[in-house]
Amino acid sequence: MSSNIKTAEDFIAYAKERNPNQPEFIQAVEEVAHSVWEHLSNHPELQRSKILERMIEPERVIMFRVPWIDDRGEFQVNRGYRIQMNSAIGPYKGGLRFHPSVNLSILKFLAFEQVYKNSLTTLPMGGGKGGADFNPKGKSDNEVMPFFQSFMTELQRHVGANLDVPAGDIGVGGREVGYMFGQYKRLKNEFTGVLTGKGKTFGGSLIRPEATGYGCVYFMQEMLKRKGKDFKGKTCVISGSGNVSQYTAEKLIELGAKVVTMSDSGGYIYDKDGIDAAKLAWIMDLKNVKRGRIKAYADHYGCEYHEGQRPWGVKCDLAFPSATQNELNESEAKALVENGCEGVAEGANMPSTPAAIEVFQAAKILFAPGKASNAGGVATSGLEMSQNSLRYGWTREEVDEKLNNIMKSIHETCVQHGSNGNGYVDYVKGANVGGFVKVAEAMMAQGLV
Ligand code: NDP
Repeated sequence: MSSNIKTAEDFIAYAKERNPNQPEFIQAVEEVAHSVWEHLSNHPELQRSKILERMIEPERVIMFRVPWIDDRGEFQVNRGYRIQMNSAIGPYKGGLRFHPSVNLSILKFLAFEQVYKNSLTTLPMGGGKGGADFNPKGKSDNEVMPFFQSFMTELQRHVGANLDVPAGDIGVGGREVGYMFGQYKRLKNEFTGVLTGKGKTFGGSLIRPEATGYGCVYFMQEMLKRKGKDFKGKTCVISGSGNVSQYTAEKLIELGAKVVTMSDSGGYIYDKDGIDAAKLAWIMDLKNVKRGRIKAYADHYGCEYHEGQRPWGVKCDLAFPSATQNELNESEAKALVENGCEGVAEGANMPSTPAAIEVFQAAKILFAPGKASNAGGVATSGLEMSQNSLRYGWTREEVDEKLNNIMKSIHETCVQHGSNGNGYVDYVKGANVGGFVKVAEAMMAQGLV
């Protein structure tokens, strides 16, 4: 540490001074600093080598212009980014987000979290994140393709199968990954695993689309198992209705739980009878093919729709925030606890505010932070990279089993580093310390770089 940095609070003040107007990034740094401070205090060699100061400084930030022409023939300009945060344990790896809210603070927070998440997966992946302030919603195919081609025309200079391997995030599905892969291949004249989340016909892994949602449910299963419980008959509340939410719902339904809500940025639907497999297939068609709004579900099935609201006031046993950051605040956390919720697993990245996490932990309910519970997506991206390198594809069952084992291993790591001795596991501390120690060790071994 710098000589004047003695406490986690000093470190946070230092981070704030160096990164003004980056609230999401600071929020993520604060959580990690608090979690790892005890470990740092016990390892003066890590402090001397300024390991945490180095970790919050991206190895590289790339910002670039993305010009394209819309359907009316008008010129448009977006801002593209790639944050290459840390490559100590492997090539940079992390998704691309396309949403009007995208900015440097949000992408730095995501890239920072990704470093520890990727470390937890046990696979050799560094951390990165990127995207653009482009809104794919309401855009025609004729607009989406040239935008993503233009984005990749610049990004291709900075990524590669052994350098940086992006994947999807908010606003990206198979269609967008396909367009980016095609453009990369054309410009570089090579067929390599430069992106994950690819289509099945050109190197994609089975189970990758399902992986984040399935993995989140497997993680919750491990937390419940430790308490001698399972999913049978549990009422579950999910936010979002995108990739992560859809496959969280699918696995929960398969394991005997009852899913009663899903949402989008317009509001949430409450189906008290439960969303079954057939209704979920309808939602997948609505969201992935028709690109419609979740309200249409309420109109179609005649259930409640709550415009402009989030689902955390609905009585449930388990909650899965799976839309976006800071979507579950302190009063919503209190409502969940008061209504008897016994577990929360984050499908999204940083969906619970720090005050909400305090409420969950004070009530001693199960709480899994996204960097542990949603790591199944990037883990399966890692498996996709392995299959691309091997020029071979594993079966659905093989990938699913590997995913399940990775989630079990992440759970064990969290228990190992997060147990406080009286039976309660602080999964936030467990995930942060578990992810941190491996990256710190690799950085120390590689010298001052
Ligand atoms: P999608 O784009 O498929 O879905 C996002 C969902 O969240 C949509 O229902 C969207 O509603 C809603 N949403 C997005 N932004 C907001 C907002 N500002 N307010 C309210 N609702 C919002 O994204 P994913 O499912 O892929 O990602 C969801 C979360 O999971 C993100 O935090 C992402 O970082 C995280 N994650 C994703 C992984 C993956 O493999 N895809 C891996 C690990 C984490 P609407 O359509 O109205 O915008």
